[in-house]
Amino acid sequence: MLSKQFIQQIVRLDPSSATHHECRHCGYSVEKDVDECPQCGSQEIAAYNLE
Ligand SMILES: [Zn+2]
Repeated sequence: MLSKQFIQQIVRLDPSSATHHECRHCGYSVEKDVDECPQCGSQEIAAYNLE
């Protein structure tokens, strides 16, 4: 379960965006314009709106 503290940490790391992008396969965090995970090569990038 994601804690509120964890979400606030993400927002602090990327204050320009309220959306968090991560690989749906391995959970690796990626930039918003990345469409392939640099960690595992998966093209399933999930976007979470934190607003
Ligand atoms: Zn991945």
